[in-house]
Amino acid sequence: MRRFFFGLRSSPPVIAPDGDQSAPATCPRCGADLKDRPRYLAYRVCDDCNAHLAISARKRLHALLDEDSFRETNRQLYSTDPLRFADSTPYAERLEEQQRQTGESDALITGTGAIHGRKVVVAVLDFAFMGGSMGVVVGEKLVRAVEQSIETRRPLLTIVASGGARMQEGMLSLFQMAKTAAAIQRLHAAGIPYISVLTHPTTGGVFASFANLGDLIVAEPGALIGFAGPRVVEQFLGRPLPPGSHSAEFLLAHGLIDAIVSRPDLRDYVGQFLEVLEPRGKRERPAGQPPTARPDPPEDAWETIVKARAPDRPTSLDYIDRLCDRFVELRGDRQSGDDPAIVAGLGVIGGHPVAVIGMERGHGEESEHRRLGRPMPEGFRKAQRVMRLGARLGLPVVTLIDTPGAYPGIEAEERGLAREIARSMALMSDLPTPTISIVIGEGGSGGALALAVADRLLMQEGAVFSVIAPEGAAAILYRDASRAPELAAKLRITAVDLKEMGLIDEVRGDPRAGGWGGRRSGQRCRVGEDVAPPLAHHVDAAEAQAPARITVCAAATGRPGVHRDAATEARARASRRVTERFSIVQRRGIARGIAADARASAR
Ligand SMILES: [Zn+2]
Repeated sequence: MRRFFFGLRSSPPVIAPDGDQSAPATCPRCGADLKDRPRYLAYRVCDDCNAHLAISARKRLHALLDEDSFRETNRQLYSTDPLRFADSTPYAERLEEQQRQTGESDALITGTGAIHGRKVVVAVLDFAFMGGSMGVVVGEKLVRAVEQSIETRRPLLTIVASGGARMQEGMLSLFQMAKTAAAIQRLHAAGIPYISVLTHPTTGGVFASFANLGDLIVAEPGALIGFAGPRVVEQFLGRPLPPGSHSAEFLLAHGLIDAIVSRPDLRDYVGQFLEVLEPRGKRERPAGQPPTARPDPPEDAWETIVKARAPDRPTSLDYIDRLCDRFVELRGDRQSGDDPAIVAGLGVIGGHPVAVIGMERGHGEESEHRRLGRPMPEGFRKAQRVMRLGARLGLPVVTLIDTPGAYPGIEAEERGLAREIARSMALMSDLPTPTISIVIGEGGSGGALALAVADRLLMQEGAVFSVIAPEGAAAILYRDASRAPELAAKLRITAVDLKEMGLIDEVRGDPRAGGWGGRRSGQRCRVGEDVAPPLAHHVDAAEAQAPARITVCAAATGRPGVHRDAATEARARASRRVTERFSIVQRRGIARGIAADARASAR
């Protein structure tokens, strides 16, 4: 016999205007008087110590969405107490009491709304309703929100505060984890962006299901976050936890979330992310052919390498600043760490949304922290994560190459450095969207090539790309590192050399001498001035040839048949692109001279 675990109520409970319950008069953390303080009134954030205090889901929605844009969905769903559960109080009575107190029918509020004019589907958990726990109603409403997101092709935004699964609904509650995770998987497959916001506290079954599957995951400062709560962990281990574990900051440091965003800043932060995905205004169409490169005579190879390594040479962040109209950084590999030697995110180049990944050497004191741009395994994993996201959202992927090489060290080896380099190359060769790489400084060995397996490989005339640093080669071959200059020329590492061998597609002009210094010198306009036009052109040409985002465009026409045809067409194009790239990559593995010889001998 099938039983219904939730029902429909004809008259939903009446709610207070902002649904807010009792509010403290003083800050529980610093003791400040909270009466009439503006940030407290609007956001429940202490004006003095920035403590993020409890806030109702309704008040949160009010602070986040455009005025009067919220339209609630499925408000009538309520739990039928499927287990007929009772502890000190019958669950049915507890539910009724919670409904009276909060004015909500269950812990999750769902609906549609707009942020800076962009429509989103939202789902917000209210901690005041049974600790934001997930039972059958929360699971069902979340899945319905996901379905609406897929149908309308609107991004999904969830904000959670939850103690986990709802014990009073037993195993039915636990299975909501699987149900919601599977729904998010469908959302991913449909290429719809998902933003997940974690607030105090986020634990258990909610943290270990839909909330952890966001394309973008952000947390509020100081929020307690973890799968098993601190008390459970301490009991299990039999010792106290170190301070700061189970916090938003801990998660960021371990590569598990993208950013920590203050509640008052969340609206603009999410707005920026939505703007990057669907930029307003017309796309700039670069006119005619891309400007051709200036084939300057090759400089001395050693001189070039010294220049390519110059500390004041613009770095990836200087280029991103110059090339992207907007940029939202994504951090962490969602596994073990966030590598500062790799910067990655979504940005807008020439009106096109793109995924951007760069190796970042840093300037001045920052260089040490960024290990002079030597990526760790987690850096390559972050790059892979952003590539996959770009592919799923139909965005071209642009990579900026600038590293002396991957980080040589025990930590890197034990965490699988070589495997991550190999996986990066394999993944990049298989991306369904256009890919463009530019060597902007030093291309050091496998660590550099890991992110350079692209449809178009560009190189600045002052950049180098080498199988091994000449010093290393001299140490091995001559047992004398000082003979590096001599070897530099023999290894043929300049842009002109590589173009001649057919390994790269274009040589681009260098950032002008004297105009370097990027963000810090205020002369940012000179950085990448010879890279921006061809880059915009390549992105535009690739998009025009095979618009990866065709499914989105077709969906907008509202004709169901067209949508299906477009999706099939987009898949076919993606597959053609991967095949084409395969042949490009194979061809680059054969030097032009050898290929010519082989053809001659075949005749
Ligand atoms: Zn305070």
